[in-house]
Amino acid sequence: MRTAICPGSFDPVTLGHLDIIGRASLLFSRLIVAVSLNPTKNPLFSPEERVEMLKEVLAPFPNVEVDLFNGLTVHYAIERKAKAIVRGLRVISDFENEFRMALTNKKLACHLETIFLMTKAEYSFISSTTVKEIAAFGGSVRDLVPPQVEQRLIDKLRSKSS
Ligand code: ADP
Repeated sequence: MRTAICPGSFDPVTLGHLDIIGRASLLFSRLIVAVSLNPTKNPLFSPEERVEMLKEVLAPFPNVEVDLFNGLTVHYAIERKAKAIVRGLRVISDFENEFRMALTNKKLACHLETIFLMTKAEYSFISSTTVKEIAAFGGSVRDLVPPQVEQRLIDKLRSKSS
């Protein structure tokens, strides 16, 4: 079985993430979407909420699993017997960070490949951060996230402000 992991914060999952996951799911027999418990970020949604939303929107993909992980991505990838780490690339500014991360991961685990999928042009500007900012100021995120996530965002921001 050819397994890959697609790690990230997914706070929350956007249409940009979904596009990358959908395309990567065609390249591997099993794709594990791995929500990172990165303590340096200050997420809006709890890890469990992020997993729940991912499971809901990824239900139509039979070879995609959702999981949580802590610690180094390469350790998790090895534990799950993955051959590759899949990342999405948006704009030039993503490149420097992704390049550094891919080289570091290669140093730590030389048999693991990092594979980059180029974003679709219409999703190139979407990030979870932008989506949260738009929603926080009452803007519509309808074309940026799956419908279930739009409602969860509205509910979450409402519960935080009350
Ligand atoms: P991280 O905090 O690890 O960057 P993110 O949830 O922000 O986690 O992103 C997870 C992965 O999805 C990353 O590889 C990122 O480049 C990719 N990604 C995020 N948004 C998009 C998008 N709009 N198009 C393509 N890839 C994206």
